[in-house]
Amino acid sequence: MHAPILVTGGAGYIGSHTVRLLASQGRKIVVLDNLVYGHPQAIVDPGVELVVGEVGDQDLVRALFAKHGFGAVVHFAAYAYVGESVTNPLKYYQNNTAEPIKLLQVMQEFGCQVFVFSSTCATYGVPDALPITERNGQSPINPYGRSKLMVEWILADCGHAWGLRSACLRYFNASGCSPDALIGEDHNPETHLIPRVLMAVSGEIDQLEVFGTDYPTPDGTCIRDYIHVEDLADAHARALDHLSAGGASLQCNLGTGVGVSVKQIITATEEITGQPVPVTYGPRRPGDPPVLVADPALALSLLGWQATRTDIREMLRPAWLWINGPNHGRYPGEKSS
Ligand code: UDP
Repeated sequence: MHAPILVTGGAGYIGSHTVRLLASQGRKIVVLDNLVYGHPQAIVDPGVELVVGEVGDQDLVRALFAKHGFGAVVHFAAYAYVGESVTNPLKYYQNNTAEPIKLLQVMQEFGCQVFVFSSTCATYGVPDALPITERNGQSPINPYGRSKLMVEWILADCGHAWGLRSACLRYFNASGCSPDALIGEDHNPETHLIPRVLMAVSGEIDQLEVFGTDYPTPDGTCIRDYIHVEDLADAHARALDHLSAGGASLQCNLGTGVGVSVKQIITATEEITGQPVPVTYGPRRPGDPPVLVADPALALSLLGWQATRTDIREMLRPAWLWINGPNHGRYPGEKSS
């Protein structure tokens, strides 16, 4: 019997896929989400309670702890627009760094010592070696990455001070959706490559702009490691089991180890959809490192986890289904960006 779990940001993209998996495993889940970017419709399991509120509302979080006696917290709630973090850093440091401190204070009060944290490959900045291992230096190049890295440090310090055990899961590029396309990726605004390339095919946007064709990569476009969102969800379940069984804190990459370029994604999209992708070629987007690819070996050795899908078409197919399904890539009531 698992103790109830508090999932912050569980109505977001990665959070909702994780909540669905955890609930299917028979775990009691309470989601805390302010619904700024999350979608109540993304909580599809009727046994999951959604509480609308702020992670930093300590009276609310205390009341939830008192009622449910959580054994663990899985913390997704965060802002994740890198460009916005540059122009409005305080928004990111407040929401992504200061709010979790308030949550951790309540966890300490209630003696809850298990925390699974959504970290990011953005904490590495421009990698000093490839593929990226956890031994790479962490030198984030934007406030978003720094706001997440600071939480990694805070978690380590809480571990030393009061025994918190945490898993910092450094995601590479989350993609895809559940195979039934009941839940999926719905950001507003949508800035990510895979949804945008599919939006260009479906006509929701006129063209995909490729940001830079002069990178030092084989085809000149950026290379990323696209990881299926359900594989990410599985890693959270394993991290929870590891920590709940008394396992030590860990930090690990969650990626496939396979690098895919922007041009390769366009080609694979044309293959899957049977339609041409309207494309324009523009300048580099500031802050984009040429190549980000994970070495995922540590997650395998610590959690027994590895990506079950490594072919980019396995991420594109469900994402295309989500756009063509009953929701057309948007939860009901959501406007396109
Ligand atoms: N990209 C692009 N056009 C877009 C969106 C993204 O060329 O409209 C590129 C971007 O420069 C990066 C890659 O696609 O090289 C992945 O970008 P995304 O925003 O999906 O994820 P990120 O790697 O920034 O987290």
